Amino acid sequence: MASIVTPLAQRLQKIIQTDGPISISKFMGIALNDKDYGYYQTNEPFGVNGDFITSPEISQVFGELIGLWFLSSWKIAGCPKETKLIELGPGRGTLMADILRTVKKVESSFFKTAEIHLVECSLSMRNRQELALKDYDVTWHKNLESVPLGPSLIIANEFFDALPIDQYLLTNNGWHEKCITFNNDKNIFEFTTVSVPNFDIAKFPSETFDSETNSVFERNRMSEKYAEAIGQRIASNGIAALIIDYGYVNSGFGDTLQAVRDHKYQNPLFDIGRSDITAHVDFANIKKILEGHSILVHGPVSQRKFLTDLGIEQRAMKLIETASEKQSLFLIKGCQRLIAKNGMGSLFKVMSVTQKNVPIPEGFQLTNF
Ligand code: SAH
Repeated sequence: MASIVTPLAQRLQKIIQTDGPISISKFMGIALNDKDYGYYQTNEPFGVNGDFITSPEISQVFGELIGLWFLSSWKIAGCPKETKLIELGPGRGTLMADILRTVKKVESSFFKTAEIHLVECSLSMRNRQELALKDYDVTWHKNLESVPLGPSLIIANEFFDALPIDQYLLTNNGWHEKCITFNNDKNIFEFTTVSVPNFDIAKFPSETFDSETNSVFERNRMSEKYAEAIGQRIASNGIAALIIDYGYVNSGFGDTLQAVRDHKYQNPLFDIGRSDITAHVDFANIKKILEGHSILVHGPVSQRKFLTDLGIEQRAMKLIETASEKQSLFLIKGCQRLIAKNGMGSLFKVMSVTQKNVPIPEGFQLTNF
């Protein structure tokens, strides 16, 4: 399938003509977040009619269980007033709406004193969130640092995979950065390698020291910054954070850059700005950064274990008691999909951060999963 000449493709072509090949993180940042033509500004990414579907869009039970997890973490912390409920990359706002509906119903004293803070860089996503959360008092931020300090409960579902990565390739002449250039003869974007002066291997995980030619190593500097900010916040003010995403448990090699449009994979260099570009999350690296703070990190465990421990099946059965046949089928299918052994249940991982000296949170205790 031929690539479409999008406004973003034209803009990137000009940048490359002037500055030379660009890093993958710069490419991803522009493709996803350009304020005029970036993917998250102009498209309908989520849901059945979008390019992909996320857990909260599959079933309300996902957000309800996270709401209950928040509630139990809040109680363990001694029910602090003015707790900040923070979501990173809230998409359509569905997850936060499900969390708030649940905590309001189950423990109104928690809901009444809580503050809602959303971290979102896309104006068009923010408009959707305003609509979904119109009954609540919400504050938006461009990054986590600008959320006021205080006891915080943080949720990031499919946020880290959207943050831009850089890739490094081990050639016969040492490590090079994988970049993107424009081939004028073929009229297409393509990958190229650029030597990195003063490449500081000491800053890379020890696995990179002894690897084979053509190994690709990915680094996500923005996700490192977010991990640092989460660690600091929980260490100084509590309470807990949940990171849910697809990714790998051990750092390693491999090219995980991917693009999805209309529920199908496609070349990330095609139709720029019109497909969702992501990379798998390096949970080991995030964990290492978090563990640099005086906190506890739990997991990652599979989404299947986490949601099953939290009682997804019981919750679905309860809802079915008052649901129509059609609704019941939808509920059962949705919950099954979230915990499918050969699907989202194992692909997605859940990691949590808590203060020290608190019990292991629900969903992370050792079981036979
Ligand atoms: N959590 C949602 C949506 C995940 S998609 C869900 O589960 O349905 C990623 C979200 O992160 C989008 O809202 C996107 O606009 C936002 N986002 C992507 N990069 C970001 C960045 N650098 N800073 C803040 N938000 C970002």
